[in-house]
Amino acid sequence: MLSGFLLCRLTTSRSLLDDRRQPDDQCPSTIPGSRYSEGFMVLDLQEMEHMLNRARASREEIKASHAEMQQLIVEDPLTGCRNRRAMGHQAQDLWTKHTESGEALSCLMFDVDHFKKFNDDHGHATGDEVLRRVGQALRSTFAGVGQVYRYGGEEFCVLLPGHDLAESRWIAERVRKTIEEIQIESNTSEEMLHVTASVGATDLKQQATSCDEMIAQADHCLYMAKRKGRNIVIAYDKEVANAHFRP
Ligand code: GH3
Ligand code: MG
Ligand code: MG
Repeated sequence: MLSGFLLCRLTTSRSLLDDRRQPDDQCPSTIPGSRYSEGFMVLDLQEMEHMLNRARASREEIKASHAEMQQLIVEDPLTGCRNRRAMGHQAQDLWTKHTESGEALSCLMFDVDHFKKFNDDHGHATGDEVLRRVGQALRSTFAGVGQVYRYGGEEFCVLLPGHDLAESRWIAERVRKTIEEIQIESNTSEEMLHVTASVGATDLKQQATSCDEMIAQADHCLYMAKRKGRNIVIAYDKEVANAHFRP
């Protein structure tokens, strides 16, 4: 509701600022429904309230589109996961917070096995569908517990606060099995397509001295998983630490 006080100020300031008396009903104002009388601006309260409501509504619209833009900045449109840009900031913050507090933090790296074959044999749209479904499986598994990022083409990184390496390895094994159950219709044949992923796991207790190093450890585990035949979870250990990988 428009207050009487606001109306009073409007009429007063108008009459003080403009000492040229306007003839009645020739209001210089652009406010609809207002008119000028005896040097006072007479405002239609209903019209004013309507205008205020419209202003409030457009403020809400601006807020909503701002929130939508913020979302687009951090989200990968294909998979609905957070994007690499978002990961840059959030991973560093998590690393700092958890190294200071001593609380557990682990990092999982997922890579779809032989993904290129989906594109080559069944088309890019089928490849996209594989990524959507894997992203969906990861997001629903880690909802409320960890953050899922699309790290690259068919690679996903999960940061899991409050879970050490043993726990995250166990969780990764469950997710690996979930991914194994994904079935996708082919555009080019009757067969149902199956997806598998390799997983690397580490946590901040594995002598990494920075967040990037922890992520690199998970990546090295992934290389080891590929080397060992794919569709497997590899946790960071001495064997991975001593292995040499050429990306
Ligand atoms: P590996 O088991 O060793 O991981 O083999 P791979 O085939 O999964 O990996 P590779 O790196 O050889 O191929 C990844 C392919 O992913 C190459 C690239 O064209 C494709 N790709 C990257 N981003 C997208 C995307 O957004 N959509 C689709 N459909 N393909 C993508
Ligand atoms: Mg890859
Ligand atoms: Mg791959």
